[in-house]
Amino acid sequence: MKPAPFAYHRAHSVGEAVALLAELGDEAKILAGGLSLVPMMNFRLARPAALVDVTRIEGLSYLRADPDGPDERNGLRIGALTTHRTVEISRDPAVLVGFGVLPRSARWIGHYPIRSRGTFGGSIAHADPASEWCLLAVLLGGRVMLTGPDGQRTVPAAEFFQGYYTTAARPVARRAWLAERDQIRRAGQHAGIGYACFSERTAYGTPAMSQRRMRMTPGYDTALVRMDPTGEVIVTTGTCGHGQGHETTFAQIVADRLGVHPDQVRLRQGDTDLASYGWGTWGSRSVVIGGGAAARAADLVAGQLRKAAARLLEASPADVELAEGSARIRGDAGVAIPIAELARMVHFQAHRLDEDLRYGLEARVSYDPPGTFSNACHVAMVTIDPGTCAIRLHRYLVVEDRGVVINPMAVDGQVRGGVTQGAAAALLERVCFGPEGQPASATLMDYLAPTAAEMCPVDIVHLQTPSRFSETGAKGTGEGGMIGAPAAVLGAINDALSDTDVRFDHIPVLPQDLSAALSKAGAAP
Ligand SMILES: Cc1cc2nc3c(=O)[nH]c(=O)nc-3n(C[C@H](O)[C@H](O)[C@H](O)COP(=O)(O)OP(=O)(O)OC[C@H]3O[C@@H](n4cnc5c(N)ncnc54)[C@H](O)[C@@H]3O)c2cc1C
Repeated sequence: MKPAPFAYHRAHSVGEAVALLAELGDEAKILAGGLSLVPMMNFRLARPAALVDVTRIEGLSYLRADPDGPDERNGLRIGALTTHRTVEISRDPAVLVGFGVLPRSARWIGHYPIRSRGTFGGSIAHADPASEWCLLAVLLGGRVMLTGPDGQRTVPAAEFFQGYYTTAARPVARRAWLAERDQIRRAGQHAGIGYACFSERTAYGTPAMSQRRMRMTPGYDTALVRMDPTGEVIVTTGTCGHGQGHETTFAQIVADRLGVHPDQVRLRQGDTDLASYGWGTWGSRSVVIGGGAAARAADLVAGQLRKAAARLLEASPADVELAEGSARIRGDAGVAIPIAELARMVHFQAHRLDEDLRYGLEARVSYDPPGTFSNACHVAMVTIDPGTCAIRLHRYLVVEDRGVVINPMAVDGQVRGGVTQGAAAALLERVCFGPEGQPASATLMDYLAPTAAEMCPVDIVHLQTPSRFSETGAKGTGEGGMIGAPAAVLGAINDALSDTDVRFDHIPVLPQDLSAALSKAGAAP
């Protein structure tokens, strides 16, 4: 099969390539080795309108030591046009110290023609799930350096790969958003982009809460972690989820520390007969404070397990690690005891252990941190039908830093839910009263709650700066999605109306508000 027709451009410098790509827009693709791209074009799975050939750009094929490595080792820099073969035959110990896995892996990539033409940059940019380089870039803690029309930025590999064939190279394409907005405007609709940046105080404990001088000062939380004789773990907490997935997130925190699978951890919450005093779930506090208490309690139980294992394996507790369901001697995985077996012994063969280790594996800990600050930038694009004044969300992007993300799916779900709630506050939800003060929007026929039909996809980029003020490095997450959305949507509406004299400084903005304002300004459709 022949590929669909395309325009061919050869770039001789990175600057020229970037300018060409900016000019040609989303329909253009970079041609590096061509190994992924050409077969896809031949099968007509990809039909770029233009190819920008970068193969003649000098100075992009190299493998060199980087003295600014992350630790005492040198780092390693690899150019975008470096072929698999260059990596495979590289032997320079000064360059490869600590990275010997790269040439060893390169040997396994495809066959010779693939290795001699396929490029490192092409593999990474393509985010092919079968690519060795993508996985190694993440495992080695690599960073991807991106150059585009808006300048340069560096993204940790773990954040660069966002899914199969999807990378962080796209979401911040401000120019693409502007181009799309202008295209929609040329097609006869209003379109606008709005931004909202915020910093949010989250998860504060009693030191901060006491400043409010309330009769009851909330803030700390308490967790009990107990391992039963089968090795199952029960975590009791004073926080109480209502759909945020605490069962999963808390299990991950505790399982990580005890070296067991999260499936073996059960969370008990919401039963005041069982839980110690704590302050529940609000203020984006559960994972930071409740999770921090659970983490500290799990650390104590892990210490008990290590001591018991050390006694039975005749080793020092410091040499025992808990991982993959076993207590094992660090560096000698052959000397190990299953954690479930250890738990059984502590409970049922107490006589084999020193007195301080007998009769139970449990710890109760309260945690009361000063608090964390989360931050985010929300970007919304809306379109407005000039005939009906219907306002629709067209695109939405959240770039946010909530510290260590313990469970990306749980966090993404909360961000998307929050954005939906915030966008609904801006576009749908209004509480109305009749002249006698009777509520006039008391049913879902009158009070418009959002559904999936009102939303557009929400892209999310996580920047993870671990908090020094929380046990897990996480910052509060629950409510942030809701904070940015109303302002971002309102800003987008005002941008869409920038060719009129109409501006809104309140929410919600309903179609009838818009229609009335446009009529008043003499800009009615
Ligand atoms: C038969 C066969 C076997 C293979 N076996 C393996 C294997 O075992 N392991 C493995 O890891 N891979 C394997 N591959 C994949 C191959 O290594 C990759 O396709 C190749 O490395 C991609 O690089 P490229 O230079 O050919 O990229 P291209 O095909 O030229 O480009 C791929 C994509 O990335 C984009 N792109 C390229 N360079 C850049 C850049 N610098 N910046 C931004 N975007 C860019 C292009 O626009 C295109 O969308 C195999 C491929 C084939 C055909």
